[in-house]
Amino acid sequence: MNGDLVTGQPKGEGPATEHPDAERASGTAPRPAPAEPATTHFGFAQVPAAEKARRVASVFSSVAPSYDRMNDVLSGGLHRLWKSFAVRQAQVRPGMRVLDVAGGTGDLARAFARRVGANGQVILTDINNAMLTEGRDRLLDEGLPVASVLCDAEQLPFADASFDRVIVSFGLRNMTHKDRALAAMTRVLRPGGQLLVLEFSRIWAPLAPLYDAYSLNVMPWLGERIAGDGDSYRYLAESIRMHPPQEELAAMMRSAGLARVQWFNFAAGICALHVGVRP
Ligand code: SAM
Repeated sequence: MNGDLVTGQPKGEGPATEHPDAERASGTAPRPAPAEPATTHFGFAQVPAAEKARRVASVFSSVAPSYDRMNDVLSGGLHRLWKSFAVRQAQVRPGMRVLDVAGGTGDLARAFARRVGANGQVILTDINNAMLTEGRDRLLDEGLPVASVLCDAEQLPFADASFDRVIVSFGLRNMTHKDRALAAMTRVLRPGGQLLVLEFSRIWAPLAPLYDAYSLNVMPWLGERIAGDGDSYRYLAESIRMHPPQEELAAMMRSAGLARVQWFNFAAGICALHVGVRP
């Protein structure tokens, strides 16, 4: 890992790597998700909860063709280093089953497919057909054996305890009920398996004004100039602001039933990787 990107030691409850006793541990069931709130945020706007998924779908249908190019432009290529750190942290081995949730254009599924070998399996999922099609076609063109499934992270159509690793990268903040998505992702993990959440997070406070100026002004401007879609990039910038900071997300992961939750900050907290283990 490029040490410059990790601003400190992992924070949280201790190592998230599998413990030898994990398989024998109590098998705590993920907790049921709470009731539906009437409204939620879509960027800075407050919208009916039932409306958010439709709006998010419209954003990603719109950005799908330019998504990878814009990621490189807006992050100066840093997203590749953050993803590469997440892949290494996942310690995926031959024979494992890996689920890439909200996997979009498939960067992580690609990296995991190369690690699981012929006896393992990687499944790429997304709620958005345009994003999933981009990812699926690219992986097929590269000859990688990745199955793709169109589904909502809040209602994953997979058996309990059926994956060794579940990862969601820059997807969670777009979900209407993050608690339900975290519960669903925890449910499909085997005991001892890990959930990895890579997401924009809370930057070190002294740098916040500079970062706000960049993300809330420059990002939509670049989105308009390069992809002809300033509104979608305004939403993406606002959604970063509305996502729970590091400590709060760790608490949500614990509430979903995960243990030994820890996180790594990148670029002063612009992005963080949270890791938790299903007991
Ligand atoms: N994981 C990819 C990456 O890291 O580049 C794509 C991230 S993209 C910013 C966010 C993805 O989340 C989009 O493809 C979007 O369709 C997906 N998404 C949003 N809400 C979702 C949900 N409820 N269930 C599954 N996917 C969802």
